[in-house]
Amino acid sequence: MLRGEDVVPLPDAGEPPFVTRFAPSPSGLLHLGHAYSALFAQQTAQACGGRFLLRIEDIDHTRCRAEFEQAMLDDLRWLGLRWEAPAARQSTRGDAHQGALARLKRAALVYPCFCTRQQIRTEIQQSASAPHGPSGEPVYPGTCRGLDAGEADRRIARGQPHAWRLDVTRALERTGPLFWHDVRGGWQACRAADFGDVVLARKDIPTSYHLAVTVDDAAQGVTLVTRGEDLFQATHVHRLLQALLDLPTPHYYHHNLVAGADGQRLAKRNRSASLRYFRERGETPESVFEKLGLTPQRATAAG
Ligand code: GLU
Repeated sequence: MLRGEDVVPLPDAGEPPFVTRFAPSPSGLLHLGHAYSALFAQQTAQACGGRFLLRIEDIDHTRCRAEFEQAMLDDLRWLGLRWEAPAARQSTRGDAHQGALARLKRAALVYPCFCTRQQIRTEIQQSASAPHGPSGEPVYPGTCRGLDAGEADRRIARGQPHAWRLDVTRALERTGPLFWHDVRGGWQACRAADFGDVVLARKDIPTSYHLAVTVDDAAQGVTLVTRGEDLFQATHVHRLLQALLDLPTPHYYHHNLVAGADGQRLAKRNRSASLRYFRERGETPESVFEKLGLTPQRATAAG
């Protein structure tokens, strides 16, 4: 089921043991892909005598539910995963996220964006050469970037809903060229500009994935972020935020994704790949390890 092979990495000579984490969002049932990601993070920490942490990424109150969180914890324990207590909860970290945003506001690196999704779509359709992001999706055309500050303040005072976007061009001017290290892929030049002005605080949620994950990985002292290769591109944005917020840059390992029987990437809505489904059918954690091609013995012996 695995696409290609991953090798559990070890720190370079003289580097301390890795601190890794698994950071799921309780917005559905965990599937085989999550199991792989969690086991990979745990085994990487174990292989070098490091630490393995869990962070519940529950900032999106429109999608996260208590019953998914409970199911998630049960499934992870059933798999044999043990993390350092207590698990961090992202929704309790609002002050830290707001502090980071306030710092970027003071540095004039973010701006309020009042656009609706529809307005953004229309603007992109009307534009002859809308820039596109790394996965081909059009990026935000920058409509609110040049908005007069007084006008923006008046709209905020009137209570008009707004997000906060990073002025990525200005941010990169401040930082200059940046790099980050992917254990599998080597050193990467940071290409944060490809995403355009990403949202750092949503209209409905006072932070965003990019901001929260960057601030929280640093706060937990994570030194190796292991996660699926679908998040490889997002790391460019995280690297830029680390530079702007004076946060340390961990190593990264973007592992292979687990595909379903149809060769497609697994999604939380594919119930037949969920750990819950396997448990209900009486399967054992060992059979899940086997499906993943990831045995504790093989994974800890590699490196
Ligand atoms: N919470 C994210 C997710 O469930 C993962 C975050 C990360 O590993 O950086 O997709």
